[in-house]
Amino acid sequence: MTSDTTPLLEVTDLRKHFPIRSGLLGRVTGHVRAVDGISFSVQPGEVLGLVGESGCGKTTAGRCILRLIEPTSGQVRFDGREVTTLSRRELRSLRRDMQIVFQDPYSSLNPRQTVGSMLREVLSVHGLATGQAARTRVADLLRMVGMSPHHISRYPHEFSGGQRQRIGIARALAVGPKLIVADEPISALDVSIQAQVINLLRDLQQQMSLTYVFIAHNLSVVEHISDRVAVMYLGRIVELAPSRALYQRPSHPYTVSLLSAIPQPDPDRVHKRIVLAGDVPSPANPPSGCRFHPRCFMATDRCRVEDPPLLEIAPGHATACHFPDEVRARASTLL
Ligand code: SF4
Repeated sequence: MTSDTTPLLEVTDLRKHFPIRSGLLGRVTGHVRAVDGISFSVQPGEVLGLVGESGCGKTTAGRCILRLIEPTSGQVRFDGREVTTLSRRELRSLRRDMQIVFQDPYSSLNPRQTVGSMLREVLSVHGLATGQAARTRVADLLRMVGMSPHHISRYPHEFSGGQRQRIGIARALAVGPKLIVADEPISALDVSIQAQVINLLRDLQQQMSLTYVFIAHNLSVVEHISDRVAVMYLGRIVELAPSRALYQRPSHPYTVSLLSAIPQPDPDRVHKRIVLAGDVPSPANPPSGCRFHPRCFMATDRCRVEDPPLLEIAPGHATACHFPDEVRARASTLL
């Protein structure tokens, strides 16, 4: 991955506000600001981790990028084209280059279709291969994801969760995409096989120079696969940094709290877990000032009224907090 090339994906001020309707006439009485103005870019061959608690907007952001749901506003530039203004036909051809791996591999596979038939259909719909060429390609795809070509005539219910997710990955790879949005690809799997699927995704990314937006709800999942990590809270990115900087010098209290929740394998490095007060506030009515202030262990009066912008504090490292130096100093005593 190089950092001085043109980004493959550039997201600018992306928003998705879902209307809240009430009454018999279904009048709009408010909006759930699921994604509320996020900007980031991803270089070709880069893995960007997108992390936050459930309800922070990360999955909605991933789907807006692929236009599986329509964004309310903002720009998504992919491979030199503006995705948000493409017609349905143009979008269909772009889908070859932008694929998604879903969280729940079972519900994303057709239970009445064998694996072979499903993968051949993908190849045929995109005009990539038919007949014997398709059969050969399907066998290759299964091998790529660590499965046997003998599995070709089996149905989804005949596989384990991990195998089903491998099939989901094979389906995404079938069209030769440039970008894969991996939407919590391991969170529905047993802990014992999560590492295998992460390793597979990492190996494929390296072999094929793929670009990932890797969505997860905790930082331990993305640590070894991401080049950079964006931490989301209540529809916004609150910290964005190269992985090493984020894990070693977190500069937002929310990131510090997420890091404190990662179990330490070294018994001599036990750290105190920071338990955040209360639940995530409603994205329909975000708190004033800094959105994190009701749960922040470093909040001051200024935080209740002044919304901190996402500012760069070191090359490539940005945080949305008024006191990044103090946070770093505090983190070094806590983690
Ligand atoms: Fe906490 Fe204040 Fe920083 Fe927000 S601006 S994260 S409330 S210290």
